[in-house]
Amino acid sequence: MTVFESMDTRGHEQVVYCNDKDTGLKAIIAVHNTTIGPALGGCRMWDYKTEEDALKDVLRLSRGMSYKAAIAGLNLGGGKAVIIGNSKIDKNEILFRSFGRFVEGLSGRYITAEDVGTSVKDMEWVRMETRYVTGISRALGGSGDPAPVTALGTFSGIKATVKKQLGKESLSGLKIGVQGVGHVGYHLCRYLSGDGAELYVNDIDKIALKRVVDEFGGSVINSGEIYEADLDIYAPCALGATLNDETIPKLKCSIVAGAANNQLKKEERHAKMLQDRGILYAPDYAINAGGLINVANEIEGYNREKAFRQAEEGIYDTLMKIYNISEQDGVTTHKAASKVAEKRMKEIVKLKNIYLPKKNVMGRRDNA
Ligand code: NAD
Repeated sequence: MTVFESMDTRGHEQVVYCNDKDTGLKAIIAVHNTTIGPALGGCRMWDYKTEEDALKDVLRLSRGMSYKAAIAGLNLGGGKAVIIGNSKIDKNEILFRSFGRFVEGLSGRYITAEDVGTSVKDMEWVRMETRYVTGISRALGGSGDPAPVTALGTFSGIKATVKKQLGKESLSGLKIGVQGVGHVGYHLCRYLSGDGAELYVNDIDKIALKRVVDEFGGSVINSGEIYEADLDIYAPCALGATLNDETIPKLKCSIVAGAANNQLKKEERHAKMLQDRGILYAPDYAINAGGLINVANEIEGYNREKAFRQAEEGIYDTLMKIYNISEQDGVTTHKAASKVAEKRMKEIVKLKNIYLPKKNVMGRRDNA
């Protein structure tokens, strides 16, 4: 498939190949959709085996960002960047400044951020060359670590799912298995235990596990056991693809709601398997949008209280909307989430029919 054919398949607007022989930078920036606003998405650094693998990844991830921003009610489009290289050995100031200059060259059509293989420090180098970067440290006026707000949004999403599935306002006495107690999982456990949930935690990092159990109580559960344990809720907060042909038949819980990205191994197939088993699944990109909501706030002038409130209230309401559509239309929650996101994108395109005489600030649509 040619690059244009690949772009057509997923509806991409623009793909930019960045090549800087002096710094060794080889990056691809994909702008999927700017209907709602500038394309925002992290910059991943990965040792891709081939250029085709890098292109495939950036196209897939940037499309996902369009849906995530749309469903979160943000004035942002979807984009992503990948730098081809080994993040353990190939990183340096000049490489990221070079990347920053390519981002600047897009004049705000794409806004970058950290992602797998890149860090806040790397984004500070990018910031030396462009304004179009988010997720920088609090010290430099950014919004800092997104994990606490992602955790709050996930907690709020779990509450919405519990309300829909079990008719309860509180998590008191509910058994929740949290898989992965890293940045997000740690804060999520704090919220869950604060609401009276019974925690069952799992991680390959023994120190992280001990910290959570010491601070918030609960029991440790083995990796193999988490799927078949007698839980009310399974909250994946580590890896992707944990919902698959092997695990779904084992689940005893009636809710799957957690922060991990790409939880369904095959999206529609595994969303349907969950639905057929009567398990209510919170679509991952809707429940884990707190971090994106946080950086969107950074673009407009960061206010921590506002960002947290927006994540808490917004994610609750969004999930309720998804569950109601899923029920009314008889579709999976995954399909219902796509419908909500696509409807918003289409409605905003129509708004452009109304003439506006002057440009709005960055992050809002202009009439062009
Ligand atoms: P993290 O790396 O800090 O934490 C992940 C934890 O999972 C680590 O403690 C790790 O030891 C553990 N883990 C890894 N493999 C495991 C396994 N096989 N079994 C059990 N535990 C395992 O990452 P994070 O920032 O907490 O993100 C967690 C998930 O949420 C990821 O899927 C991430 O993509 C997603 N997410 C994070 C954010 C954010 O704001 N950080 C936002 C949206 C989505």
